[in-house]
Amino acid sequence: MNKKGLLIVVSGPSGAGKGTICKEVLSRRNDIFVSTSATTREPRDGEVHGVNYFFVSREEFEKKIEEEAFIEYAEVYTNLYGTPKDTVLEKLNKGENILLEIDIQGALQVKKRYPEGVFIFILPPSMEELKNRIIGRGSETPESLERRFSSAFEEIEFVNQYDYYIINDQVKKASDLMEAIIDAERCKVIEDIEDIVKMFKEEG
Ligand code: ADP
Ligand code: 5GP
Repeated sequence: MNKKGLLIVVSGPSGAGKGTICKEVLSRRNDIFVSTSATTREPRDGEVHGVNYFFVSREEFEKKIEEEAFIEYAEVYTNLYGTPKDTVLEKLNKGENILLEIDIQGALQVKKRYPEGVFIFILPPSMEELKNRIIGRGSETPESLERRFSSAFEEIEFVNQYDYYIINDQVKKASDLMEAIIDAERCKVIEDIEDIVKMFKEEG
């Protein structure tokens, strides 16, 4: 039986805890693979090329757009980010579950092309807590903090385009919920159920 992998798309405002929850879920399971995006943003301290992102110049990124190398791409907070098409589709076809942590514009592009994906939106417990988390992460300049925070008010309106939402008040609870969603989606009755029924019938 050749079951396709699940495409898991996770979005939410900056600071909601997407990275933290995805990291926790990935550390618990060996059946989910993360896709490494390309970006024109500068690496932060400790970020590694090919692990956190493929850090590329704007020229290189634009060349890849022309070559249609991305499933989706978007300009987020003045930098370009994109998901490589070939690696993701190859893995899904091999039955591997792939997780994309991408912004809302990108997620909506993926939804058009790949509606069978599962789309999860991470919310903070409050906007005040969101701001505290972005400040606490210490990764932003005052301008980029303000930009990320004010964008968050517009971004949360898009939650209704997603299949699921998770309020990240506690990392463990939020990660448990993400695992539960993924497990439920893997059990959904879709076309592969015909193969399972056939398998049982052949036994009889
Ligand atoms: P995002 O990937 O959505 O931008 P991060 O995962 O980087 O967000 O989280 C932003 C900050 O909030 C980080 O410093 C992280 O450690 C912290 N954080 C994430 N989840 C929680 C939580 N449930 N409670 C408290 N702090 C959290
Ligand atoms: P950061 O700069 O904090 O790593 O990421 C900024 C935003 O870009 C986050 O919302 C993150 O989810 C999003 N992002 C990361 N990779 C991609 C991608 O490949 N495509 C899109 N559309 N967004 C991405």
